[in-house]
Amino acid sequence: MLPKRTLMGPGPSDVYPEVLEALARPCIGHLDPAFIAFMDELNELLRGAFLTRNAATLPISAPGSAGMECCLVNLLEPGNTIVIAVNGVFGTRMLEIARRCGADPVAVEFEWGTPVDPDRIDSVLAAHPDAVALAFVHAETSTGVRSDAETLSNLARRHGCLSIVDSVTGLAGIELRVDDWGIDAIYSGTQKCLSAPPGLSPVSFSERAMARVRARATPPQSWFLDLELLTGYWGAGAKRAYHHTAPVNALFGLHEALRILHAEGLEQAWARHARNHARLRDGLEALGLEFLVAPQYRLPQLNAVRVPQGVDEARVRAVLLDRHGLEIGAGLGPLAGRIWRIGLMGASCTEHHVALCLEALGDALGSA
Ligand SMILES: *Cc1c(COP(=O)(O)O)cnc(C)c1O
Repeated sequence: MLPKRTLMGPGPSDVYPEVLEALARPCIGHLDPAFIAFMDELNELLRGAFLTRNAATLPISAPGSAGMECCLVNLLEPGNTIVIAVNGVFGTRMLEIARRCGADPVAVEFEWGTPVDPDRIDSVLAAHPDAVALAFVHAETSTGVRSDAETLSNLARRHGCLSIVDSVTGLAGIELRVDDWGIDAIYSGTQKCLSAPPGLSPVSFSERAMARVRARATPPQSWFLDLELLTGYWGAGAKRAYHHTAPVNALFGLHEALRILHAEGLEQAWARHARNHARLRDGLEALGLEFLVAPQYRLPQLNAVRVPQGVDEARVRAVLLDRHGLEIGAGLGPLAGRIWRIGLMGASCTEHHVALCLEALGDALGSA
């Protein structure tokens, strides 16, 4: 038997009990007419969560990194220039994927723990008029930083390139308006603020992005992530040509998680994340812990705090896990051993979770 945990790390978050029940519904055929209608409804719920009318909105049958790869392999052709902002782990991953697409990525590096600076991006885009896209991370889970997705997407458009946005952790946790902000390609994940299990990646593409996909000289090197094939199966009114067997039960779970989100209301969910973040911040500061990120750039759903001098950070996490059944995250890359990452995502973003975490951390800090 695996233990029961409270998940307050960088994802997965606690899964809603209703989602667990939905996952256990009897499987039906992925081409059953009833399932086809369900897919249309699921995509409409996804459009509501992204605040978009994009026809090409669908869940990729694989985790967030596959959504990232789907955006890049479809929008990049060999030799294309792409500007990629790097302020943490996930910008670094985009860079690596762009290289493997045979593109020519221009990395714009920012200190980890700081946001992407639009002024610097503006001058880099001006220096690279041939760039076809700007890619950046809206909510950097490795550092707890929010970047200004609206300003950055507008900049991309002004420079005549597409915007590619990682909002794996942003979706349903902080403000995100795909159409109003002019985002061209976006991907997310199910295991962060949607609180479904890991394994699916909702994506959405603007008409401008889809026109680029259709105008490719060569097909994308990934057959599985080829958007033209995927939209042939997923698109409303499409022929529903068999592409791969959809993960039927995982989609039941995502549908239920989206239903819960819409029942609460998107803006209410953003407000709940902000409210519980403020509670957690007050408690962490009362324990003497300091945030990594300046207040105006903090993500409410991912709280990065510095490990105090002389504290064994791995031992604290072990006490939290063993004594309190509570998972929090460690630092990655240059922040390994230097920070903890405390998630308040989706179902894990409640007053109860805040209280549990503060009590357990107080205990672990006292005994580690
Ligand atoms: C979690 C995460 C990913 C990757 O998602 P996986 O489901 O682990 O593949 C990508 N970007 C960000 C910002 C994330 O937080």
